[in-house]
Amino acid sequence: LSLAAPWIAGLTPYVPGKPVSELERELGISDSVKLASNENPLGPGSRARAAMDTVLAELGRYPDGGGFELRRVLAEYHGLSPMAVTIGNGSNDVLDLIAHVFLQPGTESVFSEHAFAVYPIAIQSVGATARVAKARDYGHDLDAMARLVNEQTRVVWIANPNNPTGTWLAAESLKSFIGSLPKTCIVVVDEAYTEYVAEPDFPDATHWIETFPNLIVTRTFSKAHGLASLRVGYALSDPRLADLLNRVRQPFNVNALAQAAAIAAINDREHVRASVELNRAGMQQLTSAFKRLGLDYIPSVGNFVTVDCGRPAAPVNEALLKRGVIVRPVGNYGMPNHLRISIGLESENARFIAAFEDVLAS
Ligand code: PMP
Repeated sequence: LSLAAPWIAGLTPYVPGKPVSELERELGISDSVKLASNENPLGPGSRARAAMDTVLAELGRYPDGGGFELRRVLAEYHGLSPMAVTIGNGSNDVLDLIAHVFLQPGTESVFSEHAFAVYPIAIQSVGATARVAKARDYGHDLDAMARLVNEQTRVVWIANPNNPTGTWLAAESLKSFIGSLPKTCIVVVDEAYTEYVAEPDFPDATHWIETFPNLIVTRTFSKAHGLASLRVGYALSDPRLADLLNRVRQPFNVNALAQAAAIAAINDREHVRASVELNRAGMQQLTSAFKRLGLDYIPSVGNFVTVDCGRPAAPVNEALLKRGVIVRPVGNYGMPNHLRISIGLESENARFIAAFEDVLAS
């Protein structure tokens, strides 16, 4: 421990859930339901699957280290230059690159209470100081965040929508917040769940890249595109920021299967549409069950919903696991009575609802 930098020794790691295979082995079952990681229950679309098939014959080759074609396709999709794109091994990788480039000991970084758990890890991994703003109704309170910004602040993180709360910020307030920040402060708008949101005043912050030279928008293929296992995400920003991010990016950080699948997936609007539609029906299915059970939940625009069990969630979670239903407790987000449920297939949602009712009644 003493060999590590002091800020590394004090780091609380991200704790992933128990592997499904391990849980099934312990329970002696093979039909568990996993609604724990905000994945797309449909998985990849047919175009991404076909694109990967063609790469399988070439697995002995390195991928394109610069992601030339992927960056070209992403740039075209967003109407920006390929120089504005930084590709990552999942968007988590990009978040980490941002911390490495812009933060160091002595600098500060601001995010909200209940915000995505990777921000504090990225900040602490480079020895910067985290400043956490109080949330409002579980969502980001931009005024409270602005009050924490000072001369040492180098990065502000915003998840829109946020995980695990599913809360979101409207275009006008987010845009004026970004405009109010000092130009010495990078603002990251993490749009991992953007495809699921149908609210009319929900912003697409990628449209503001040319307005704000300190803005970085991150996106992922893990959610609506169904490619979580492949690990591919990206950032869009002013090319000067992308140049800095690409200096610390490992060449080959996005593997060949992931590049090919992402290139095919970005324009597969039909798969995204089907995924979003399934999600809408599943959200309805879950929230009507919560209403029937008299449980409060945080209204969510993502592919998950976080419900207040009205009692400590940890034992409820344990009892669900015994029934082969895997969801995500969010005690580590300061929400000890809540469980986050990812929207699955109709049958998976039904399995969860039945098990949840059973657990709450016992
Ligand atoms: N941002 C948010 C808000 C997320 O919830 C997630 C996934 N849990 C990510 C980023 C990272 O996703 P990935 O690394 O799979 O792209």
